[in-house]
Amino acid sequence: MTKYKLEYIWLDGYTPVPNLRGKTQIKEFDAFPELEQLPLWGFDGSSTMQAEGSNSDCVLKPVAIFPDAARTNGALVMCEVMMPDGKTPHPSNSRATILDDEGAWFGFEQEYFFYQDGRPLGFPESGYPAPQGPYYTGVGYKNVGAIAREIVEEHLDLCLAAGINHEGINAEVAKGQWEFQIFGKGSKRAADEMWIARYLLQRLTEQYGIDIEYHCKPLGDTDWNGSGMHANFSTAFMRETGGKDYFEALMKAFDENLEDHIAVYGPDNHLRLTGKHETAPWNKFSYGIADRGASIRVPHSFIKNDYKGYLEDRRPNSQGCPYQIASQILKTIALVPTSAEARVSAAA
Ligand code: ADP
Ligand code: MN
Ligand code: MN
Ligand code: MN
Repeated sequence: MTKYKLEYIWLDGYTPVPNLRGKTQIKEFDAFPELEQLPLWGFDGSSTMQAEGSNSDCVLKPVAIFPDAARTNGALVMCEVMMPDGKTPHPSNSRATILDDEGAWFGFEQEYFFYQDGRPLGFPESGYPAPQGPYYTGVGYKNVGAIAREIVEEHLDLCLAAGINHEGINAEVAKGQWEFQIFGKGSKRAADEMWIARYLLQRLTEQYGIDIEYHCKPLGDTDWNGSGMHANFSTAFMRETGGKDYFEALMKAFDENLEDHIAVYGPDNHLRLTGKHETAPWNKFSYGIADRGASIRVPHSFIKNDYKGYLEDRRPNSQGCPYQIASQILKTIALVPTSAEARVSAAA
């Protein structure tokens, strides 16, 4: 038997953006445990905005497990928060009731800033560094500093060791701003991996005295880019059948449900989706081929492939909850019939 360090990780009850929380318990197993072997656990919900002080026990239900390469015999255990009965999802549980479909694939592009002493890493104590331009995908100390690359590389290795589908890294447009991409099949799987990747990044940067700023427009109304979390998505139908007619019906459904999408695409998004800095205005839906100023960008490959493949919704922001984002995309997709006859009669 081996003693494993199980880090139970969950989302707290803060709004509009939950914080990641975690605590460790040690359990003995013959080998790296399976999800089914992990016990329920509890925590004090009155300290996380999830309960009143008088009756404060909440239950942690493991939903996914990943190896934790930063610890000997470590595991990262993503949990849902349940009521004391262990069965009813807590109101703050944004995962339990979402739409899911293994055939729906999601690629999230998480942008964020490294922050130190209240400002982006590499910003001078007062004023600004040289204007943005050379930082995106940049190289060299004056562009990316000395620490950032070390952190993103370490984060990549931690994600890969955890079995997370980390797909890539790039330095972003603003100084101190970076991006990583996570791809997953199914909304729960993709979003679990995103939350664990966020957790690993925040835990890793503790030792550097650096924080991750996920706000979508931390530098306000300036000429510095905000942070998004573009959601690339495809269903089996979109990849295998698709077609122009289906695509147009889908875009119409996205247009008609604009408000439901914006509602879960992250707080303060009107500060970011202004029409500037490669964004479309938040209150007007648009799509365009290879258009980074549209709400939805249609990759060239999609058109070349007879309107089959994936689309990129550029509106979700860096603080958005990937469970809710993926679920809303599936909800709108579900409104559009996949048979041409049904689309015609629905439109009539
Ligand atoms: P860009 O910065 O040009 O918008 P990225 O390369 O950062 O693009 O991100 C593209 C994302 O698209 C990746 O995360 C990838 O996983 C995702 N993706 C690629 N193919 C599919 C697909 N068929 N379904 C869903 N997502 C996809
Ligand atoms: Mn990208
Ligand atoms: Mn980007
Ligand atoms: Mn993108």
